[in-house]
Amino acid sequence: MYPRSFKLIWPHDLGEALEAVEEGALPLAGGQSLIPMMKLRLVAPDTMVYLGPLHDLNYIKIQNGKIKIGALATHAQIAQVLKSDCPLLSKAASEIGDVQVRNMGTIGGSVAHADPAADYPAALIALGATIKTISKRGTREIAAEKFFTGPYQTALTRGELVFEVIVPKTGRSVGYAKFTRIATDFAIAAVAVNIAVNNGIVENIAIGVTGVFHHPVRARWIEDVIVGKKLNDEVLSRALNREPEFEVISDSRAGKELRFKAFKAMAKKAILEAYENSEN
Ligand SMILES: Cc1cc2nc3c(=O)[nH]c(=O)nc-3n(C[C@H](O)[C@H](O)[C@H](O)COP(=O)(O)OP(=O)(O)OC[C@H]3O[C@@H](n4cnc5c(N)ncnc54)[C@H](O)[C@@H]3O)c2cc1C
Repeated sequence: MYPRSFKLIWPHDLGEALEAVEEGALPLAGGQSLIPMMKLRLVAPDTMVYLGPLHDLNYIKIQNGKIKIGALATHAQIAQVLKSDCPLLSKAASEIGDVQVRNMGTIGGSVAHADPAADYPAALIALGATIKTISKRGTREIAAEKFFTGPYQTALTRGELVFEVIVPKTGRSVGYAKFTRIATDFAIAAVAVNIAVNNGIVENIAIGVTGVFHHPVRARWIEDVIVGKKLNDEVLSRALNREPEFEVISDSRAGKELRFKAFKAMAKKAILEAYENSEN
């Protein structure tokens, strides 16, 4: 199906784009979520503003141990550039869709779209990332854990754009595991882990989860059991068998039972991967 016709604004600078979104224009970035939704007529905007001409929003830079990623950085760029400075985000980016989606889709578009099964949110939550937004009224910085508020819902307000995503530079002590029906698909369950281990004892762990609940979450109920302990089968099984703090979802791709099983398997895999990476 063709999308309904719409007016497209081609901004010369960020100010013009902000003016347009303030007046209700829908931002268009890589189009990898928005265009399919428009073709299905799930969305039918009257006016859109294309962010592509804002080349200043396409960057990945490292300053004082922090990685700043412009909203227009593509999944392919993130997968390639951050392999050693932020392997968790690089891995999550490399798991998104197929080559076309990764070449066109942007981190700003993905976090703003907030698909409950998207890859980035799990990694961003585990990394303690911050989402920087911008509007005509100024900028805001929102912790990733607070940014994703529901399925396809975020803390963004009218007139605001995702401007930048900020993550810490990290080492190799991370893990990412994703369960899908078919390759290139969205996650039925995906888990991102960022761990700090000292003499075999887990000093800190952050676990981000996507695909399993109504929105991406941090699995503190699992973290609480693991922190301060040596990781062994008994600790892992006690942690993973705890009742989640959120309701497991069910959809046409997987019912609750399968999804919860997949979640526990992916959590185990990602935690062990991060733990083993921390020892090497
Ligand atoms: C076949 C296919 C497979 C896919 N598989 C996966 C997958 O496995 N994992 C995964 O995570 N994703 C997957 N995706 C989605 C993909 O990651 C999209 O790129 C992403 O969701 C949207 O980014 P975009 O730049 O294309 O945004 P667009 O589609 O242009 O926009 C998406 C939404 O975000 C808004 N928006 C865009 N940029 C901004 C901004 N800077 N500030 C505020 N709002 C903004 C738009 O108005 C729109 O509502 C898949 C997509 C396809 C088509």
